[in-house]
Amino acid sequence: MQNFGYVRVASVAEALQAAREDGAQHTRFLAGGTTLVDLMRLHVLQADRLIDITSIRELQTFNTSGRSELVFGALSKMSDVAEDPTLRRDYPALAESLQKGASQQLRNMATLGGNLLQRTRCEYFRGTSYPCNRRSPGSGCAALEGINRGHAIFGYSDSCIATYPGDFAVALAAFDAQVDTVSPRGERTIPLINLHRLPGDTPHLETILDPDELIVRIRVPATPLGRASTYQKIRDRESYAFAGVSSAVAIIIDGGRVRQARIALGGVATKPWRAGAAEQSLVGQPLTRETASRAGVVAFADARPRKASQFKMSLGPKSVAKALLIAKERSAA
Ligand SMILES: Cc1cc2nc3c(=O)[nH]c(=O)nc-3n(C[C@H](O)[C@H](O)[C@H](O)COP(=O)(O)OP(=O)(O)OC[C@H]3O[C@@H](n4cnc5c(N)ncnc54)[C@H](O)[C@@H]3O)c2cc1C
Ligand code: SF4
Repeated sequence: MQNFGYVRVASVAEALQAAREDGAQHTRFLAGGTTLVDLMRLHVLQADRLIDITSIRELQTFNTSGRSELVFGALSKMSDVAEDPTLRRDYPALAESLQKGASQQLRNMATLGGNLLQRTRCEYFRGTSYPCNRRSPGSGCAALEGINRGHAIFGYSDSCIATYPGDFAVALAAFDAQVDTVSPRGERTIPLINLHRLPGDTPHLETILDPDELIVRIRVPATPLGRASTYQKIRDRESYAFAGVSSAVAIIIDGGRVRQARIALGGVATKPWRAGAAEQSLVGQPLTRETASRAGVVAFADARPRKASQFKMSLGPKSVAKALLIAKERSAA
């Protein structure tokens, strides 16, 4: 056990003051702790001091009925948002992505901001006796020649092939969400799709956030696409498991043809992955079993599976096709 300091802050201003004291590179915010404390116990992460942000009331609320946008405070609990009746009716993909994540106990603790920033579940990242460029830059990647069945088939590099594990960020990617942040240097807004980095030569840098940059809220533009949407998650067991393959899908059908389509993939890429070519393949087409299956194939056309992850090449397209047909049913309801 390594000693560390702890401070609880009650406002964003206090959080920034504590971040200034700790310095830009040494700040660690603590929200629900379900990722952070876990990794500290495993000695994967160390902290000199934790800044507990859970008492910042202004970040604890969310509003899903706004005319122009949905607003989620960064400290909104996964369980509260997942159970929100308006979200379940108008944006089922967002609600389902949260319902299907983790367990009820974890969802009661975990926050949306922390959820976006959860770390990879690659076994070698969490096991400190293995080389891992993400945990220990320059040490190598044990997964390249090791167990990599659950690893990425999109967006990986020779330095790291780990998947981004979260569900909610994948659904948010389909809805063009934005993330508002604040740091001692000011405020900024980041498109969700740009929040996570590709691993490249620096897999230890997982997002474009600075360590002392606080996520304050997530915003989703209000859209009629939400009603006919779904989040499909295929995993090794029915609950309490990370995605092997997942797809967030939303559509608008007009006059029997697809007017707009959104498709984002999870469990297959190093970051939330938008399948733009598959979306385009549907526009102007009737949504049938054939066009849905073809969109699934297009979504995975550029994937680069390894031997053990080859199964994602058949599971992935089927997941997208199924999600599209569920979205179609919702569009007719
Ligand atoms: C057994 C298990 C199963 C799980 N299964 C799933 C699953 O199936 N799907 C899924 O999506 N997730 C899953 N998770 C992950 C879980 O959803 C995350 O651990 C959780 O959402 C993190 O939220 P938290 O509030 O606990 O974050 P914390 O652990 O407190 O923080 C996580 C990271 O985010 C940073 N952080 C937190 N809030 C902010 C903020 N506002 N601004 C800036 N930085 C911040 C912290 O410094 C830390 O680096 C699982 C976790 C466990 C332990
Ligand atoms: S895949 Fe990434 S996280 Fe896993 S061992 Fe390799 S470098 Fe580490």
